Amino acid sequence: MATVKVLLHEMSWTDAKDYFAKNDMAILPVGSNEQHGPQNPLGTDHLIARALAEETAKRTGILCLQVVPFGVSAHHRQFWGTIYISPRTFRDYVRDVCIALNYYGVRKIVIVNGHGGNLPALIELARELREKEVFVSIFQWWGVAGKLLPGLFETEERRHAGAEETSLNLALYPHIVDMERATDEEPRRPLVQTEGFTLPFDTVDRTSSGVFGRSTTASAKKGRRVLTAVVNDLVKHVNLLKRANAEELTQKSKV
Ligand SMILES: [Zn+2]
Repeated sequence: MATVKVLLHEMSWTDAKDYFAKNDMAILPVGSNEQHGPQNPLGTDHLIARALAEETAKRTGILCLQVVPFGVSAHHRQFWGTIYISPRTFRDYVRDVCIALNYYGVRKIVIVNGHGGNLPALIELARELREKEVFVSIFQWWGVAGKLLPGLFETEERRHAGAEETSLNLALYPHIVDMERATDEEPRRPLVQTEGFTLPFDTVDRTSSGVFGRSTTASAKKGRRVLTAVVNDLVKHVNLLKRANAEELTQKSKV
C-alpha cells in the first residue's frame, strides 16, 4: 500500500519531483552536537529538532529534510565531544541547502532550530534569502513552551540541559538519558558581570557540570506534555504558511 512519504531522504527522485510539482514549501531541522550535562546525549539539540520537524511533516504533509547536526557551539567546546563550527560556515551551509530547495521551486522554508547559539546566523540568513524571494521562518521550541505551559517548569528548570530539555529527551530517547547522572548546578556569576553587558564567557566559566540550574526534576511525562504543545504550535504555523501566497511574503519595494 502506498503511503505518503514526507522525509526527503526516504523519497526517490520521482517522488521528489511529484512533491515539488505541487508544493513550494519544506521543513529543515537544524541543531548542534554539544554537551548537555552528564545525563544527556551530545546530540540533544539536533535530535529534538529532528523529532519536532518530522512529526510536523507527518501531520501537515510538508516535506522534511535531514537534520543539520552541527551548529554554532564554540562556547561549549571545553566539554568533550562538542563539535563546533563557525557562524559563517553554518550560515553558508544552511543557505546552500535552502538554495538547492529553491532550485526545485521552494519559496517557503520553516527552519526548526534546536540550538539557541544558531539563531543570529539564521536570522541573518532569513533576511538575506528574503531578498532572493525565499521566505524563511525560524521556530525554537523553548521560546514557546513556557508560554503554552506556564507553571510546568520553573525558571531554573528551563535553562541549558535543565529539567525541561532533559524531559524532552526522556520522552523521545529514554535509552540514551542517564538520570542517575543528572545534576543541579547554580551557574557562577563572573566577577565582572554587570547588568546590560554581554560578555564573551564560555559555559565552563559558569558551570562545572554543563548544567545551568536544575535538571533532576525531569520526567518523560512532562516531556510528552511539552512535545504535544510545541508540535501543535508548529503545525499551526506550517498550515498558515502553507496557505500564504509566496508573493505576499517577499520583501517590499521602496515606498
Ligand atoms: Zn540544548
